[in-house]
Amino acid sequence: MIPSEFDTIAAISTPLGEGGIGIIRISGKDAIKIADKIFHSPKGLKLADVKTHTIHYGFIVNPQTGEKIDEVLVTVMRAPHTYTREDTVEINCHAGYITLKKILNLVLLHGARLAEPGEFTKRAFLRGRIDLSQAESVIDLIKAKTEQAQKIALDHLSGKLSEKINELRDAITRVCAHVEAYIDFPEEDIDGLTQEQIQSEINRVKEEIKKLIEGYEEGKIYREGLRAAIVGKPNVGKSSLLNALLMKDRAIVTEIPGTTRDIIEEYVNIKGIPLQIVDTAGIREAHDLVEAEGIKRSLKAVELAEIILLVLDSSKPIDSLDEEIINKIIHKKVIVVINKKDIKSREFQLPESLKDKPAVEISALKGEGIEELKELIFNTTITGKYEQEGVVVTKLRHKIALDNALEALENALQTFEKKEPLEITAMFLREALNCLGQIVGVVTTEDILNIIFSEFCIGK
Ligand code: GDP
Repeated sequence: MIPSEFDTIAAISTPLGEGGIGIIRISGKDAIKIADKIFHSPKGLKLADVKTHTIHYGFIVNPQTGEKIDEVLVTVMRAPHTYTREDTVEINCHAGYITLKKILNLVLLHGARLAEPGEFTKRAFLRGRIDLSQAESVIDLIKAKTEQAQKIALDHLSGKLSEKINELRDAITRVCAHVEAYIDFPEEDIDGLTQEQIQSEINRVKEEIKKLIEGYEEGKIYREGLRAAIVGKPNVGKSSLLNALLMKDRAIVTEIPGTTRDIIEEYVNIKGIPLQIVDTAGIREAHDLVEAEGIKRSLKAVELAEIILLVLDSSKPIDSLDEEIINKIIHKKVIVVINKKDIKSREFQLPESLKDKPAVEISALKGEGIEELKELIFNTTITGKYEQEGVVVTKLRHKIALDNALEALENALQTFEKKEPLEITAMFLREALNCLGQIVGVVTTEDILNIIFSEFCIGK
């Protein structure tokens, strides 16, 4: 499946736009040859002759026209100690769009092909430098929105998840080998695992997989963030709360009810979780068409949100409008935000239906209670699985593979306990191995690879 020699690929690996330095990366067997054709060293150096992992000053020159394109530094890195495990050349030039394009065109003209999204990383995987879950974490590392997401991605890149999965695969392989030995030599007295040992080992692996599956919800939150909707009747302080959370004046705050007509989305970092906050127009009855549209979108935002910040104005008693809104969101995970505590009225009483919900008193205007609210958001969504286990699953693809592995192990255990033919137990064990293998990419198909790597940007 892995060709010994891929063709040579090239791409601009830095973001397009004006900047100090832009990098064109070339990878493949002809990388150095191609670079030599367009690189001119004042010292007369040929890149083919230089040592690996060295950097050289010179110019990129169009060999056909003699046009000098840019003053550059060229890094030469020979296989196998490179990102792709292939010969790699990186041209550091001035990051103007035209310059980068011109150099890339020259590289393509002299024998390289434009890389597909993620193709450099795909090669690192196909050449065995990293496994699939590590390759996938490269994109998470690039896209991480918070320090925590970045830390988990780096953990995965350095092989923490792979290690765990491989440990489980080894355990299943061992059990499978013993079961198969009993199939092959039923009469012989093999010095293998006892029936109890086989059962308890399958159970142990099952428990480990269960823990990983349980951690997914949390892992997903770290990777993708959490969506919260701020909900409440007009003038309770929704926009003020959004501003207080963002600590900058983003939403327009006014004293006229119903002015937050549209929904506004922003990100806040809550102890390492990217929290996307949607400030809604309120979900009461509409008075005009613009409002009706806003309300429709608010209701959708509420449904999409994992958590609802229900804002109540504690300077007044709860009224029927509050009750109407509460009814619409009570089925969701709700945090009750009791606002305007600086002017709290004695007549304010929390409705019975909200008594068992987590609640916090704040003053959005004065910025009081905001940290407590953030803490509450964190505590209601994060149970600390990542901290406990040290490894967490963040991708749906991995979670599905784990679910399937767990099911296969359950079947293996059942058939074993019911004393069904051992071949059936062995088949389920191999099925479980197969599922775990998909995570690290020992077992994979071209389709899966294409989907995974198409998420990447070109040049990575
Ligand atoms: P929204 O319609 O729910 O978005 O409410 P706004 O955020 O626009 O706030 C409505 C009014 O309440 C504004 O005059 C705010 O200054 C005021 N307000 C918001 N939060 C507080 C608070 O904590 N204390 C006091 N005293 N006033 C507040």
